[in-house]
Amino acid sequence: MSYLLTCPHCGVREVTDFSFGGEVVVRPKSTPTERELNTYNYFRANVAGDQVEWWWHRSGCRAWFLAERDTRSNVVHRTWIPDTEAHASPAPELPGAGAGAGAEGTR
Ligand SMILES: [Zn+2]
Repeated sequence: MSYLLTCPHCGVREVTDFSFGGEVVVRPKSTPTERELNTYNYFRANVAGDQVEWWWHRSGCRAWFLAERDTRSNVVHRTWIPDTEAHASPAPELPGAGAGAGAEGTR
């Protein structure tokens, strides 16, 4: 299914111009436990609904950016360059991660 994605630099393009980088996950603390590291590497929320994801404009400016997309309909609500907006990096919950998984450094 093809749809449109708006690169923050280049504007609206076909999704085939981009590479999917996966959903945003919270990087574990500097010395994670084995469980925290495995959770970071292998577990994803895989939500049916709105999700914040990494995208790379492979056939354009070659920049990484974030997009909020409804995974059911592929409607992209917004795109932005990380750290350029106050609300740039939401802190999604890691499955199975308890206290100690900080919200800093989402990628
Ligand atoms: Zn671009």
